[in-house]
Amino acid sequence: MTFATLGLIEPLLRALETLGYQTPTPVQAQAIPAVLAGRDLMAAAQTGTGKTAGFALPLLQLLTLEGPKVAANSARALILCPTRELAEQVHASVAEYAQHLPLTTYAVYGGVSINPQMMKLRKGVDILVATPGRLIDLFRQNALKLNQLQTLVLDEADRMLDLGFSEELANIYRMLPKKRQTLLFSATFSDDIRLLAGQMLNDPLSIEVSPRNVAANTVKQWVVPVDKKRKPELFVHLMRKGRWKQVLVFAKTRNGVDALVDKLQGLGINADGIHGDKPQATRQRALDRFKASDVQILVATDVAARGLDIEDLPLVVNFDLPIVAEDYIHRIGRTGRAGNTGEAISLVCADEVNMLSAIEMLTRQTLPRKMEPDFEPEHRVPDTDASGQVVKKPKKPKKPKTSGGGGKRNLGKWVDSGEVAPAEPSIKPVRKVPVFNTGPRKKK
Ligand code: AMP
Repeated sequence: MTFATLGLIEPLLRALETLGYQTPTPVQAQAIPAVLAGRDLMAAAQTGTGKTAGFALPLLQLLTLEGPKVAANSARALILCPTRELAEQVHASVAEYAQHLPLTTYAVYGGVSINPQMMKLRKGVDILVATPGRLIDLFRQNALKLNQLQTLVLDEADRMLDLGFSEELANIYRMLPKKRQTLLFSATFSDDIRLLAGQMLNDPLSIEVSPRNVAANTVKQWVVPVDKKRKPELFVHLMRKGRWKQVLVFAKTRNGVDALVDKLQGLGINADGIHGDKPQATRQRALDRFKASDVQILVATDVAARGLDIEDLPLVVNFDLPIVAEDYIHRIGRTGRAGNTGEAISLVCADEVNMLSAIEMLTRQTLPRKMEPDFEPEHRVPDTDASGQVVKKPKKPKKPKTSGGGGKRNLGKWVDSGEVAPAEPSIKPVRKVPVFNTGPRKKK
């Protein structure tokens, strides 16, 4: 199968040739004809499967061949993304695919001044990529009208709900024309996403290109059990031993990112960090430098788990496991992209056993464990498996201890898929996000 046999027009084929795309990926093979035929789409596609081209190529073709010229302060297609980074990246891809077409594209997101965005929208843009909050701001300030909208794309819809955008999505839904084409992409399909799809989509075609909720099988994954306080030391040890060249590292908190970056920089290691507290320009610069291999180690919170597409990123390290199990899939999806192989190593301490268990259940696999000599944990990480059960209770230490360590611990219990009642008060429970909740938005 070729892109030509899928019915794409010559200017798009020329752009794909320049980009070196020879064969459509499975999601593209299914999505392109369906979108060209005008269908709504509900696609379960993992990150790295080529889903952006899957929706962007047919969308560009329809906009080129059909519909009126874009009016002032209008957009003909809207692509909603959860994060600024993803919005930038999707926009860059769309602009590349559209390079030989007479269409205009633009990306808007928060964290930067709104005025230049309002100016840019005056003439209207054919394809607008936006994060939900900024889109609503622009709409309320009359900088954007949506009555000309032909197509809405919800990209990484699960992530938008995770980030608390359900209220924004409900508002945007009310701003949209009734007659439109809607394409929904999500790595995972929770009940909330299905509810959202039920409200937003009209007789959608369902596409599932990989087993539901299973992480990319091109990524070799394993766990190194370790005591929490020794994680930084273990990281540096593994880095030196494995001669890691370029690594994306995920830490749970902003402070955790800063602390690890400080430690690495203190050792003369070329590291930088990104998290939500840093200004957008600083975040983007760190990403760009990492992509250009000017930075060796990029430490990030989950804000960077999406939207980061780096060719041949060989390794992702989970310095901390994510609180939301689905984020594990997104994190490791930064490697092993578009058919390449990759590795994902998780440094796991006893406190994180419930999160490990949740990830194994979600991905339906027991992650192999590799003990690192000299780093065997004093606080044993209880055994887990893909059934979601913590298999064995921690063994009692042979020599009774008078204080601290080992011993019985409340391991928490299952609430439902991906959701774990925390054993430690410091671990926040996963918040269920009601779709189209009208209550106040809680920001993470
Ligand atoms: P995505 O899942 O859309 O983030 O795409 C993942 C990566 O695959 C991006 O770097 C794309 O440029 C690349 N890609 C998408 N489709 C193809 C294709 N048909 N052939 C080769 N690379 C592709």
